[in-house]
Amino acid sequence: MSHFVIVGAGECGARAAFALREKGFDGEITLLGTEPVAPYERPPLSKDGLALALEPKSVATLERYDEAGIDLLTGVTARTLDAMGKTIALSDGRNLVYDKLLLATGARARPFPGMEGAGKRIRLLRTHADACALSEMLRPGQHMAVIGGGFIGLEFAATARKLGADVTVIEGLPRVLMRGVPEAIAEVISQRHADGGVDLRCGQAIASLQEEPDRARVLLKSGEIITADLVLVGIGAIPNADLAETAGLRIENGIAVNELLETSSADIYAAGDCCSFPLALYGGRRVRLESWRNAQEQGVLAAANMLGENQTISAVPWFWSDQYDLTLQIAGLADTAVTTLRRDLGDGAFLLFHLDETGRLVAASGIGQGNVVARDIRLAEMLIAKRACPSPDALMASTVKLKSLLAA
Ligand SMILES: Cc1cc2nc3c(=O)[nH]c(=O)nc-3n(C[C@H](O)[C@H](O)[C@H](O)COP(=O)(O)OP(=O)(O)OC[C@H]3O[C@@H](n4cnc5c(N)ncnc54)[C@H](O)[C@@H]3O)c2cc1C
Repeated sequence: MSHFVIVGAGECGARAAFALREKGFDGEITLLGTEPVAPYERPPLSKDGLALALEPKSVATLERYDEAGIDLLTGVTARTLDAMGKTIALSDGRNLVYDKLLLATGARARPFPGMEGAGKRIRLLRTHADACALSEMLRPGQHMAVIGGGFIGLEFAATARKLGADVTVIEGLPRVLMRGVPEAIAEVISQRHADGGVDLRCGQAIASLQEEPDRARVLLKSGEIITADLVLVGIGAIPNADLAETAGLRIENGIAVNELLETSSADIYAAGDCCSFPLALYGGRRVRLESWRNAQEQGVLAAANMLGENQTISAVPWFWSDQYDLTLQIAGLADTAVTTLRRDLGDGAFLLFHLDETGRLVAASGIGQGNVVARDIRLAEMLIAKRACPSPDALMASTVKLKSLLAA
C-alpha cells in the first residue's frame, strides 16, 4: 500500500491530507507536526482569537482525521530527510518510509537580532502557544511596545487596544505596511490606529532591546528609550526550509518548487508558506506568499499533483487583514503597476485598481468597514485572472458594476 507523508500539520498540510482522501487516495496518510495541537487557523491569533487564545480554532475535529484514516502525529518533528532512501527520521526515534512526501513546513516568526535568549517580556507571535503567553500579559493599563508596523504587529496593536492596553508601535520605515500595501490604504490604517489611541512611531530605527524581570526596554537609535511591560516583535517570517536544505533540495526564498509544486527531488512536493513558486500570471516570476488562502489552495493542489493530476498553479494571490472595524483586502501583485485608479464606495471605503504599462489590471486593493469591499475584490480577482485591460473610466465609476466588466 502507498504511504504519503505530510510534514507540517498546519493549514496547508491538513488541507492536503483531506484532499488526498476526497480525491480517492486509499493508501496510508501520515500528517505530522511539531506543535502539540491538531492543525488550527493562525489568522485569529492576532485578532479576536488572541483574546480567546486558550482554544485554537481547529481546521478539523480529531474525529474527522480518524474518519478519513489520516494518521495525525502531533508534537513530532521531522529531523532529517533522506530523499534518495525516501525516509524521514522523526524526533521520537521513528523512521518513516514514504512513497510521496509533501513538505508543508510553513514559516516561523523572524526574531529581532540577539533576542534568542529573551524571556517572557520580549515575544514573537506565530503559534497558539505564543498567543496564550501573550494573552496572559494583555491587561488593561499594561504597556505594549510593538516592533514592526506590518500586519501581525498592527493586528496585535488593535487587539491590545480593544483589551485596554496602552500601545506604542515602532516602525523603521517611513510608513506602516510598506511591503505590498498602497500608501492610501496604509494612511487609513495609520489614522485608525491613531484614533484608537496607538502611539505610532514611523522612521525609528532600534538600537537594542533589553529585558528586566518586571519590564522591557526598546532603545531607539535616536537615544529615546521606550519602557514597556511587553515587547512584541513583528518583523516578518522566515520560511522553514532547513529540513529540505540539508536534504539537498533546491532553495530559493524557501523551498523552490515548479508550477506543479514539485521540488527539485523526485516525489517530494512543497506547498504553503514554506515554498517559492513561479506565477505564470505574472510572467513566471518566483514568489513566496504568506497567506491563509494560498496555504489552503496549495495544499489541495499538492494533493492533486501527488495523485498525478498535473494541475498548474493558477490562483491569484489574495490576502486580508482585520484591524478594529476595518478590513483590507488585496488581490494580485501591485509592484509592476504604473497607474493606480480609485473608486470610492461611500462611508470612507474605497477600492484601488493597479494597472501595468499595457493597461492590464495586475492588482486590486480595498479597505472599508466589515465586508464592504469583499465582493468587488472577488470580481477584481477574476478580472486579474483573465488578464483583463478594463477601461480606466469604468474602473473609477462606482456606477459601473465590476461584473459587467467581467462579461465584457
Ligand atoms: C498571527 C497570524 C495572523 C495571520 N493572519 C492572516 C490573515 O489575516 N490573512 C491571511 O491571509 N494570512 C494570515 N496569516 C498567515 C497564514 O496563517 C499562513 O499563511 C498560513 O498559516 C500558512 O500555512 P502553512 O500550513 O503553510 O504553514 P504554518 O501554518 O506555518 O504550518 C506549518 C506547520 O509545520 C510545522 N513544522 C515545521 N517544520 C516541521 C518539521 N520539520 N517537522 C514537523 N513539523 C514541522 C510547524 O510547527 C507548523 O505547525 C497569519 C499568520 C499569523 C501567524
